[in-house]
Amino acid sequence: MWCVRQLKQIARLTKMDVEEFRAASSQMTDYIIKYFNTIRDRRVLPEVEPGYLRTLLPSCAPDTPDEWSDIMADIERVIMPGVTHWHSPHFHAYFPTGNSFPAILADMLSDAIGCVGFTWIASPACTELEVVMMDWLGQLLGLPPQFLAASGGKGGGVIQGTASEATLVALLSARAKALRLLKEKTPNLDPATPSKLVAYTSDQAHSSVERAGLLAGVKMRLIKTDKQFSLRGDSLRQAILQDKEQGLIPIFVVGTVGATPACSFDNLREIGQVTQEFDLWLHVDAAYAGSAFVCEEFRYLMDGVELAHSFNFNPHKWLLVNFDCSAMWITNASDLVEAFNVDPLYLKHDQQGQVPDYRHWQIPLGRRFRSLKLWFVMRMYGKHGLQAHIRKQVALAHQFESYVKEDQRFEIILPVTLGLVCFRLKKDNEVNESLLKKLNAGGVIHLVPSKINDIYFLRFAVCSRLTESQDVQVAWQEVLKQTELVLQKN
Ligand SMILES: *Cc1c(COP(=O)(O)O)cnc(C)c1O
Repeated sequence: MWCVRQLKQIARLTKMDVEEFRAASSQMTDYIIKYFNTIRDRRVLPEVEPGYLRTLLPSCAPDTPDEWSDIMADIERVIMPGVTHWHSPHFHAYFPTGNSFPAILADMLSDAIGCVGFTWIASPACTELEVVMMDWLGQLLGLPPQFLAASGGKGGGVIQGTASEATLVALLSARAKALRLLKEKTPNLDPATPSKLVAYTSDQAHSSVERAGLLAGVKMRLIKTDKQFSLRGDSLRQAILQDKEQGLIPIFVVGTVGATPACSFDNLREIGQVTQEFDLWLHVDAAYAGSAFVCEEFRYLMDGVELAHSFNFNPHKWLLVNFDCSAMWITNASDLVEAFNVDPLYLKHDQQGQVPDYRHWQIPLGRRFRSLKLWFVMRMYGKHGLQAHIRKQVALAHQFESYVKEDQRFEIILPVTLGLVCFRLKKDNEVNESLLKKLNAGGVIHLVPSKINDIYFLRFAVCSRLTESQDVQVAWQEVLKQTELVLQKN
């Protein structure tokens, strides 16, 4: 009896039944719609100081349930003042992060199903939709068949959380494979061998590539790029030969397609020929630029991709899929499985081996149902819709580029290929630094800088799917206005 009374009391405290959820979710949907409808009017970069939020909240969680209406009201009071509006049409920093209504709906469903799909039996749909969606997506990009599961080879795709994880997974697999082969050749392998392993990438590679080297305990050499900031085969070959002479063991190369500082492109064909010559693993990091390959006219930028062992890009950057969704393909999945396979009894199941158990393809055990986002987005946009999105954003970048070129006070750092414009005033670094500072302080637009060979420049990335031609004009007007102020002082 005591127990029943207790349960009734608990029931009163457990908030949000289905009817309350219906009302709250419709309120939330209205809020989201209003957010997008008015996002242009919000200051893109917030003005709060570090620690701003603690002062707006009680010092501990409530003892008794709060009202939903109070929580809704707190979104504007507590959260929005401290939000950097990544989907504002005036956000031009970093690279884009994807966002679309179909992807938001898919995440709602994923949260409702709430499965943890580490093995096939842990939720067959979660694994199987991912296998098929990675094939759909690989085909949309025009990836060679050896990356696709449907082609019947050893290849296939997997959704990782981020490009950083994909690089690390590829490097760890390459390392495990290299050590396995060395042990087969020399059973009494020198215990110091792992410390001799070395990997290569360009001086334009993302910081996560260098970090993957640190995490995997493999030296990561950053090789100097050419005048177009592109890694070339000859420089790579030279570095490898030098290292081999020193007794080091080259195992792995990361080629970047659309590097973060200035969206430059490594020469994959040349690099691929070198990795074949020395039997090294080639991983391609196309985190940003990969989305552009849904358009045939940009595929020349990944010429030579068939020489790669693994390829990765982020649909969560430029393909309208909400974070997180990083698409990775590998030509030989057993390289991953053999590197990361441990098989406790509680994770074994009868269908093992017939379908991927994605837990072997990644670092964590648990995984969300992220392929729903790809399914909804690819269906709701279709190939043509996705192509239109990319082409529009590239056109907007060219619009901004043309403004820069028409003004003799400015220069372009690297010709625009996709959605990023790198530019600077023909003045020293300090002047450009103060221009960037003023632009961000103005709150109208948001940009971040970059530096190559000690030359500081500004990066204008077309990010939000809501950005229109008028917004690019607004951005340029703001650049002109702040330029006047900066030049007056100098
Ligand atoms: C953004 C970016 C990354 C990092 O992406 P995450 O998914 O955040 O890890 C890696 N490489 C390149 C070229 C990038 O542009």
